[in-house]
Amino acid sequence: MRARVEIDLGALRANVRALRARTDGAAYMAVVKADAYGHGMVRCAEAALQAGATWVGVATPYEALELRAAGITPERARVMCWLWTPGGPWREGIEADLDMSVSDLWALAEVTEAARATGRRARIQLKADTGLGRNGCQPADWADLVDKARAAEREGLVTVTGLWSHFACADEPGHPSIAAQLARFDEMSARAYAGGLRPEVRHMANSPAVLTLPEARFDLVRPGIAMYGLSPAPELGTPADHGLRPVMTLAAPLALVKHVPGGHGVSYGHHYVTAGPTTLGLVPLGYGDGVPRHASGAGPVLVDGKWRTVAGRIAMDQFVVDLGGETPPEGTEAVLFGPGDRGEPGAEDWARAAGTIGYEIVTRIGGRVPRVHVDAEPHGNAGPGADAAGPRD
Ligand SMILES: *Cc1c(COP(=O)(O)O)cnc(C)c1O
Repeated sequence: MRARVEIDLGALRANVRALRARTDGAAYMAVVKADAYGHGMVRCAEAALQAGATWVGVATPYEALELRAAGITPERARVMCWLWTPGGPWREGIEADLDMSVSDLWALAEVTEAARATGRRARIQLKADTGLGRNGCQPADWADLVDKARAAEREGLVTVTGLWSHFACADEPGHPSIAAQLARFDEMSARAYAGGLRPEVRHMANSPAVLTLPEARFDLVRPGIAMYGLSPAPELGTPADHGLRPVMTLAAPLALVKHVPGGHGVSYGHHYVTAGPTTLGLVPLGYGDGVPRHASGAGPVLVDGKWRTVAGRIAMDQFVVDLGGETPPEGTEAVLFGPGDRGEPGAEDWARAAGTIGYEIVTRIGGRVPRVHVDAEPHGNAGPGADAAGPRD
């Protein structure tokens, strides 16, 4: 194999259990958007359900429909999606029993029309913009949305199953926007109740809120990154500080090891020049596989027990590390990041090297790299051992 992304489903389940243990009976929505942050959407959703999640959350309706098509039936899990565009597949969403987020009157009009056409009630959740300033309904427009949703409920076209919102700065404990958003959510919820809505769930908590804000748990929590074993922000501590274990490992065998003289330029642009005679190792991974080009000259790699640094530019398919005269044989594993058991770097180290966040490091890996789901737990769906699946499994 040229390279592999290993996904430890046992670690994912353990992370879900660890997060559930601290959420006091709130229902657990496993957020598996963007192919489960690069970890494989269906396999991760299945593993999270085994560990006690009862909801699965994704951004787009197409992701939600893919989950249903893969066998995550309404009997097994509620599936919610929150990013709709005009003309979106509302009818398919109703038929697939999705919980569909509505932030605006245009979406309410489209979903009620689809409900009328199918003769079935749509399950919708109203999203409040309590301060994030992204998706969601502004407080000034909320009463109108609530009243029209209630009217559609009376007509038998929709059931408002939830009220929800999303934090802007939950990863900065003490940030004044956090209390302001919670207060606004309470006010907007009160207006919805006064308007006659009786939502089954209210929810706000992403991973940083699950880890730091017990008052934001409400009836349901929506952790994403923490389930994949990463800390939402380095300031909130390491994964281990939260009892979490990174789920993804990215590794590749060295494709070439060779001696070069001093003064030799390495990779495009010759941004790295060998200081003296040395050895170079070729790692067959590049930005075409999601390794960020911004980590050129900086990304860390474990080779033969030692951290090496990307020498020069990361190219589309490959990059080079300076092995300092050592000559591990071709085929020796180069580990870019993983849980750290063997002393390898973590996704956070790559995030720092590339000037980004751990979320982006894991989410962008994929495309061409085969994903291998490893399931060491005997009661896991996949049974003991490992199985290799294509990048789109
Ligand atoms: C992505 C997302 C989450 C999960 O966020 P994490 O920070 O990964 O826990 C929760 N809710 C919504 C609306 C999201 O878009």
